[in-house]
Amino acid sequence: MASVTFDQVTRRFPSGDRPAVDSLDLEIEDGEFMVLLGPSGCGKSTCLRLLAGLEDVDAGSIHIGVRDVTHLPPRERDVAMVFQNYSLYPHLSAADNIGFPLRIARMPRQHARGRVRFAASVLDIERYLGRRPRSLSGGEQQRVATGRTLVRDPRVCLMDEPLSNLDARLRVETRGRIVRTQHHLGITTVYVTHDQTEAMAMGDRLAVLRDGVLQQVGRPREVFARPVNTFVGGFVGSPAMNLFRLRLSPDGVGLGGLDVPLPRSVLRAAAAEGAAEIVLGVRPERFDVLPSRDRTTPGLDLVVEAVEDTGAVVHLHTSAPAAARLGDVVVRLPGRPTHSKGEPVRVTVRSDAVHCFSAMTGMRYV
Ligand code: ATP
Repeated sequence: MASVTFDQVTRRFPSGDRPAVDSLDLEIEDGEFMVLLGPSGCGKSTCLRLLAGLEDVDAGSIHIGVRDVTHLPPRERDVAMVFQNYSLYPHLSAADNIGFPLRIARMPRQHARGRVRFAASVLDIERYLGRRPRSLSGGEQQRVATGRTLVRDPRVCLMDEPLSNLDARLRVETRGRIVRTQHHLGITTVYVTHDQTEAMAMGDRLAVLRDGVLQQVGRPREVFARPVNTFVGGFVGSPAMNLFRLRLSPDGVGLGGLDVPLPRSVLRAAAAEGAAEIVLGVRPERFDVLPSRDRTTPGLDLVVEAVEDTGAVVHLHTSAPAAARLGDVVVRLPGRPTHSKGEPVRVTVRSDAVHCFSAMTGMRYV
């Protein structure tokens, strides 16, 4: 096991107009489950490949523990990688697939068998050990591939979207199993995904990337509660945070018919920038819906355009009056649907439930 340090790591591809990974500084602790999260093309896989030694850095250095591995070939780095397509050998049993790296390393057979059994028991696949990959489900194959990675007891385990071929239910089940296995074995793990729900559920910490640039690193709850900018605010959380560009008044902003007072620190920071507007972020679950008979309490008037009933919660896709210039607004409510398409709905939001970002830079105020 070992920590991992990226120090000002940059990787440029000749065809790209910007670096795929740009001056990355990131420290991953020993035994930590770190998730690299971001949209397609943001440089997540390139980070993994740089760490594995499958790509060369153009600048910067990478350490595993105290060892500088920047220019070491992959086999000398002692990292193991699980790919999207599990690349199992079809003619070998699950046990032989898992034990393959040990055979290559010429580990004595008795010892290797014990290691395979141990990995299989942690992943709960002992009963499949005699079967060939073709006769296993996607989730079972995924666990065999994970077993093959862990059996070597690598210093660092890398996983590149390993669940993307599984159906929704199996994804949830398998991600729980991977996290439990990782906690059990304590192997430093770097896991790549573009799925923010998966990232929130699995990571000890998240590193959010955009266009090759690290945006924020933190525990899932911290990143969710205090996104550093509008990009992270909009990317982490489902449905996405509502972002409204609003004109500033001396003590806050108007959200339709609702006055939202803002903290002095925000007003001061906006004034220091000379900003006439700010971007207000409201998570869909932070709106409160007023009872339909209450027409006196000030609120933001919306019209329901679509109702999405997910079972446990309801998402209302609504539109605000054109004059308010807010665009579409998503409201998330617990329980059963109580609104239908075309109905008016008036919502409020507490001023301590909003996020304030600079309209000029997109960065969070305080
Ligand atoms: P995805 O989620 O779609 O896999 P990603 O976040 O993992 O995306 P990367 O695969 O790291 O992103 O790619 C980052 C950028 O580098 C992209 O613009 C991609 O087109 C480019 N890139 C990656 N590999 C190469 C390569 N071998 N040659 C040229 N450009 C590349």
